[in-house]
Amino acid sequence: MGKANDTPMMRQYLQIKAQVPDALLLYRMGDFYELFYDDAREAAAILELTLTSRNRNDPNPIPMAGIPYHALNGYLKRLVNAGRKVALAEQRAPAEGSGRKLMERELVRVVTPGIPWDSDSIAAREPCYIAGVWGNGPVGLAFLDSSTGQLCLTEVADASTACAEILRMEPKEVVISPSLKDSLTSDYLSLEHLPISVSECRSNTLQAARTTLQDLLGRPDLMGAGVGALGPALCAAHAVIHYATQVARINLDHVKSLHPYQAGNWVVLDESTRRNLEVFRPHRGDGRKGSLVHLMDRSKTAMGGRLLRQWLHRPLVDLVEIRRRQEGIASLLSEDIRQPLREALAEVADLERLSAKVGQGTANARDLWSLANSLHRLPELNQVLQSIDALTPWVPADDCADVKTDIFTWIVEEPPLAITEGGLIRPGNHTDLDEIVSLSRNGKQAIAQMEARERENTGITSLKIKYNRVFGYFLEVTQANKDRVPANWIRKQTLANAERFITPELKEFEDKILGAEERRKALELALFKELRSRVAHSTQRIQTIASHIAVLDVLAGLADLAVDRRYCRPTVDESLALHIEEGRHPVVEVMDLGEDFVPNGLEMAEDSRVIILTGPNMAGKSTVMRQTALIVLMAQIGSFVPATSAHIGLVDRILVRVGASDDLARGRSTFMVEMGETAFILNAATPRSLIILDEIGRGTSTYDGLAIAWSVAEAIHDQVHARTIFATHYHELSQLADERAAMCNMHIAVREWQDQIVFLRTLRAGGASRSYGIQCARLAGIPTSIVERSKTLLSQLEAQRARQHGPQLSLFTAPQEQATNAPETPAAFTALMDLDPDSMTPRQALEALYTLQNMDQSD
Ligand code: ATP
Repeated sequence: MGKANDTPMMRQYLQIKAQVPDALLLYRMGDFYELFYDDAREAAAILELTLTSRNRNDPNPIPMAGIPYHALNGYLKRLVNAGRKVALAEQRAPAEGSGRKLMERELVRVVTPGIPWDSDSIAAREPCYIAGVWGNGPVGLAFLDSSTGQLCLTEVADASTACAEILRMEPKEVVISPSLKDSLTSDYLSLEHLPISVSECRSNTLQAARTTLQDLLGRPDLMGAGVGALGPALCAAHAVIHYATQVARINLDHVKSLHPYQAGNWVVLDESTRRNLEVFRPHRGDGRKGSLVHLMDRSKTAMGGRLLRQWLHRPLVDLVEIRRRQEGIASLLSEDIRQPLREALAEVADLERLSAKVGQGTANARDLWSLANSLHRLPELNQVLQSIDALTPWVPADDCADVKTDIFTWIVEEPPLAITEGGLIRPGNHTDLDEIVSLSRNGKQAIAQMEARERENTGITSLKIKYNRVFGYFLEVTQANKDRVPANWIRKQTLANAERFITPELKEFEDKILGAEERRKALELALFKELRSRVAHSTQRIQTIASHIAVLDVLAGLADLAVDRRYCRPTVDESLALHIEEGRHPVVEVMDLGEDFVPNGLEMAEDSRVIILTGPNMAGKSTVMRQTALIVLMAQIGSFVPATSAHIGLVDRILVRVGASDDLARGRSTFMVEMGETAFILNAATPRSLIILDEIGRGTSTYDGLAIAWSVAEAIHDQVHARTIFATHYHELSQLADERAAMCNMHIAVREWQDQIVFLRTLRAGGASRSYGIQCARLAGIPTSIVERSKTLLSQLEAQRARQHGPQLSLFTAPQEQATNAPETPAAFTALMDLDPDSMTPRQALEALYTLQNMDQSD
């Protein structure tokens, strides 16, 4: 270790760093946070800072980088977005007895992707969960959103269900039990994009978990918390709580209740279905624009935005709840009700996150003011809603008027951001404070009077009384006037063009004013903290209001969307129907396509449960399939849907495979991803599911692909029985519909005109005859010479095929049919079938093989 390492300050640094080896340590030194060693190198690269070094003359200088303390928030955000944990060590009073007045430093926070610095540094309309995973048999899951205090718990049967649930909740970070560490690269591989930490919570028994949760909620037991039957989920919650309080060092006083849930109580949308349907993000671009949620989110508050995302993550299978939401939306279709409600909602701040800040003791005066202002809107909101029965469940019964009055009484309008600098408490509430304020105000006046008097006495009109931290108040005169300064003034400082003085009288005033000012700040801070803890007692009441407001906001937003985009209220029931009239793709219809969006109807009934959809490239097959899935999804979150009418029998699972993607990072080609997803769909679907499959079997040879597509379609019809749309360019598949009772053909119509195709975008009964791939290639800009050559080749191939097989392939006709039409069986085949491999020696087998080969050649 070099000399530079061996200072008391660096020893202190190394001690603290040893506590957080996996975090970048920001070490407070005066007005800067400094980073050293590898931390400095890494942070300098991420933040584009200059890398310097401490004690450059030392043979082993220490790499160092620093950021100004006032710019902390921005830098923190960038480091955490880069997936890093960041630890903050702050300065405390000098260590007693150190003799050298060394500043004590203390680890105060570890900021991680799942436990953010504050709620202003994360997306307003998205939750910020950290997930806990515990147990090898049934797996316990806990999801904590520290920005709102929400703690959700569930248990699932195994690791793969746990992965699916974790991906659905989209946590920013995961904490796992030490026993799961070994299965990370196998069972939990799909989480590899997330930051994962192994829990350091040592004795995580069920009993310890229960005690922690009881302490957190301030209850003698967990009766009534709805978690009686849970085991591993409580340990998962314990692990997350331990991580938040002991590793990240935040307080969780704002967690007032637990939210146990059953993972299977919703329509299952797996990760690739959500991606294929572009529910939360579009395929292209980083933003949300182009996604379903972006289109649907018309909520006025961030709480509404977050709740809508939760609804889209968890579409309902509960008819009563679906209808309750539909009723709510229906009651808000009238502009006269919706508009004033939305105007009132627009004035409501993020009560969930504000009350969390209050509960945690991090709210400032502006937060309290904004909280009171939002509560102030409630009577107005209740007024609008009071007569609407459908909304009664969500109208806040308690408007926390007492909390509002308390805040308005104590806090000034538009208070300052800092709570330590005074100026936040309203005058007239506290006699001592009022006296101190008047003293400090009068003192300031007296200083102003003194300045005027001294100008007159000395005749120096430019004389000023100023203040700085080093000298306090002082008299400043320019160099030109210094000879006119009275002899009894005491010189303090000489600047290039000014002289600074003090007088005993000035210092006397200073003591009074500064004393009063300091006392005022301290008293205001104390009064503010008292108020904040009074409000904190109502955290749970405010959280209840917030949850009601969020629902009203989402319903009003969905009603607005329904009116604006002419959506209809779907009939949702327990049947297996799927009947959509004039359905539209909600996102594509609002895009600037250069053509009007053409609505399409679709009916799935007993004889048309599986639709084989054909049609040329670019005709609109994917669009109509996605729109069907989206309409079902929207209907099952309780929303109205883009159609003139819709009848939807409850769907338990939406399984979508549309479009190609590879997964090169995990060594899976496009074809293998497609096959993997198809296998998953065949295993997961039930007769109540909706399957959307687009062009299965493309990325391999034509016959392999056709064979796979054919047998998958057969299996879906014969064994899975789910409602399915199966789009394909293999027109041979149209034959299947003739043989299968519940299968039918549909196609998207086009018109051919002078060797061009005109897309009609209309869905019609029957199969398509051609793919028009070459015409589409021309539209896409393939050079004319290549297009012409393709046409020639296509005619040759078609003629060749007609010669070989007749108009249709015989390969996939049913076996009995094949027997009648089949050409004579080759002799080699008959001989092969006559062999009995079990009774042959390897040598005999080899000889038989040679014989067969020779027979084939002589054929
Ligand atoms: P391919 O077989 O080449 O994958 P496809 O048949 O699946 O094509 P889509 O991707 O669904 O075709 O649609 C192609 C384009 O046609 C869409 O991007 C959209 O611009 C337009 N389109 C699709 N459906 C409609 C419609 N109903 N009304 C208007 N335009 C539409």
